[in-house]
Amino acid sequence: MKDKHIIIVGAGAAGLLAAATASRLGAKVTVLEKMNLPGLKMGITGKGRCNITNAADSMDDFIKNTPGNGKFLYSAYQQFTNKDLFALLDEWGLAYKVERGGRVFPQSDSALEVRNMFRRVLEENGAILHTKEAVTRILVENGHACGVRTDRATYQADAVVLATGGCSYPATGSSGDGLRMVKDLGLTITDIRPSLVPMVTKETWVKDLMGLSLRNVSVTAWRKGKKKTSLFGEMMFTHFGLTGPLILSLSHTIGKWLLKDKTDVWLTINLKPALSPDVLDKRLQRDFQKYHKKQLVNGLVDLLPKRLIPIILAEADFTGHEAVASLTKEGRQRLVEIIQELPVTVTALRPVEEAIVTAGGISVKEIDPKTMEVKKIPGLYACGEVLDIDAFTGGYNLQAAFSTGYVAATHAVESLQDK
Ligand SMILES: Cc1cc2nc3c(=O)[nH]c(=O)nc-3n(C[C@H](O)[C@H](O)[C@H](O)COP(=O)(O)OP(=O)(O)OC[C@H]3O[C@@H](n4cnc5c(N)ncnc54)[C@H](O)[C@@H]3O)c2cc1C
Repeated sequence: MKDKHIIIVGAGAAGLLAAATASRLGAKVTVLEKMNLPGLKMGITGKGRCNITNAADSMDDFIKNTPGNGKFLYSAYQQFTNKDLFALLDEWGLAYKVERGGRVFPQSDSALEVRNMFRRVLEENGAILHTKEAVTRILVENGHACGVRTDRATYQADAVVLATGGCSYPATGSSGDGLRMVKDLGLTITDIRPSLVPMVTKETWVKDLMGLSLRNVSVTAWRKGKKKTSLFGEMMFTHFGLTGPLILSLSHTIGKWLLKDKTDVWLTINLKPALSPDVLDKRLQRDFQKYHKKQLVNGLVDLLPKRLIPIILAEADFTGHEAVASLTKEGRQRLVEIIQELPVTVTALRPVEEAIVTAGGISVKEIDPKTMEVKKIPGLYACGEVLDIDAFTGGYNLQAAFSTGYVAATHAVESLQDK
């Protein structure tokens, strides 16, 4: 195999795993990376701790947690599971631990350790890494990928693996180059949009709540007056809108809606999802009995975060100065409704550059899901976020990059074996 040359474009998670795999299988591997270091994005994942995968028992869980074309990944997830990744980490000497929600991190809590592990593995297997060398074109001859051109040289290859990532956090090198290159080759690129990203809202009161974090709330996304989906968890107010795990997870779906129609997309926040409206009403009655001599603004202090009270009251058409004792049943009902359905209008998502992942990319219809080969250009493979795939937080995006990187590399090597 050493006379077979595979070029990997991009040394991110997908490219590094692909390079490690192809070089272990005996191919001559050259990795071309435009930044001065491999895995720059990997170095900032998981807030610098790298949530490397998820410990979920079944790869079906990975599909469920991959809203962007999860089913396309079925074969890749079968060919390279999280257990396969654990086996490699064991072999490569990286200790790891499992945390809440099955999130897997290096024992050292250091994303840099993961990056260094890949560098070492590439070196040990004789893969050549060129940094500060940007690929500008994929070369195709007689319909077959045969090399690449960079800002420095032209390279011949028997197979090319494109692993240039999406368009998020461009300072790490992922700035959409790969998408432009394959577009020139006639491939379809689906709408590029942010995912796992905060949301911009119309209501200005969110600014007043900047920094306020809410736990154990549920948020429902509405489109054209219809309830579509709800999630339970944690969220936070910012100066422009909303963020936090729950909001990031909803952003994939909201982004899709906003692409089609920018109006009529809103969220309702249920601040007390564990209580039925009746039970919440009874709870209000108890609190109002306790605070019957106070003004309304002081009657909700046991139930809600202080900063939220004036907002809830205003939304329910109260000034807050009303006497608690004067509150009617109808007034209480208005409060119950707002506490369980506080409406917020979403006008946009923050830009793709600020997103944890890019939704959209090379259309999965162009790719053979069993091999990651580009259907109309034999010898060209694509893996990782350059594809139209995106997952939720929890280690699912890195596993998607690793699984597709593994599949691209093994099939690139396999296809060259008999030639
Ligand atoms: C802040 C942040 C935190 C994250 N945390 C997690 C997490 O904890 N767990 C998780 O599962 N996912 C996480 N993700 C998502 C995850 O990092 C990505 O999904 C994953 O890195 C995608 O891997 P990739 O190899 O496809 O692309 P990338 O990691 O983006 O790598 C692409 C590489 O290609 C190079 N490149 C681009 N163009 C060229 C060119 N023309 N020539 C040569 N090289 C080029 C880039 O410089 C880059 O090194 C996080 C993302 C961000 C932004």
